[in-house]
Amino acid sequence: MQKHILQEIIDSLHAQYLKNNDGEIATYIPELGKANPAHFGISLATKDGRIFETGDSDQLFTIQSISKPFTYGMALEVFGQEKVSQHVGVEPSGDAFNSIELESGTNRPFNPMVNAGAITVSSLLYQHYGDEALEVMLKRFSDAAGRELSVDEAVYESEARTGHRNRAIAHLLLNFGMVDENIEPALDLYFKQCSILVNCKDLAVMSATLSNLGKNPVTSKEVYEITCVRNMLSIMLTCGMYDYSGQWAYKVGIPAKSGVSGGVTAVVNRQLGLACYSPKLDSRGNSCRGIDACISLTNELGLHAFDCMNIGSSYLKVILEE
Ligand code: GLN
Repeated sequence: MQKHILQEIIDSLHAQYLKNNDGEIATYIPELGKANPAHFGISLATKDGRIFETGDSDQLFTIQSISKPFTYGMALEVFGQEKVSQHVGVEPSGDAFNSIELESGTNRPFNPMVNAGAITVSSLLYQHYGDEALEVMLKRFSDAAGRELSVDEAVYESEARTGHRNRAIAHLLLNFGMVDENIEPALDLYFKQCSILVNCKDLAVMSATLSNLGKNPVTSKEVYEITCVRNMLSIMLTCGMYDYSGQWAYKVGIPAKSGVSGGVTAVVNRQLGLACYSPKLDSRGNSCRGIDACISLTNELGLHAFDCMNIGSSYLKVILEE
């Protein structure tokens, strides 16, 4: 049987970028340093629930910062946009993900995609759900991925033991009244959310859920409210790739989020979710092979939101109907 054209495209991108050995594995969380630098997977999940995957797409890794848009969406649903925006802004920071800096004037974290913003969101979720917050979060992420997810205890312990910078950020947030005094349980929730184990396919389905107006296209479960999905995707487009977000919007042009363990996921609205995993990172903390593969894939398929002929969606429609 002839290979589907999407399978052909990802197989060839995989072969091409497997040769790229640039970057370094993150070691500031000691347990992440054990990742295999050779691993490289790519997955696509379409709006009609089809999966295309290649390479190490089943390899598990911790979700890290890719959790951030998904917890932000949960906080928006619980508290509403107005209340959440009193605690966290929506401006790109132009700084590293772990920057200890808040927005001047408001003292809010710049956005929910940097650690300060994500810790604030975890604190809000802890305020609402208390000790059940992790369970609620795991259930929501599992619904988005379409299978039951769990926490990698070794990574969690490694991060909790060494996360002094995140503790400093949390104390600064407390100083400005952005989080309440329950700092340790909020940080614990944040460390655990970052340690949720996923593979490329899970991330592709989670993104496909966002692309499909909040409904998981594989299981048909409604996971996120549509109004929140709009906000999640907007923030992913402007802030999802840290201080590479401007270049990403320019070159790739679709909402995305990366994590320090080497995952990258992106959303083609109404069409598909895609994800790459490869643990070697560039200086900004984004997967080197993941960035290359996403740039080529979106160019090849014309997926950039502002592609000159807007061929992205229409081309994809044609090849998915084949
Ligand atoms: N858990 C990581 C941290 O807080 C997440 C950072 C990331 O993925 N960029 O440092």
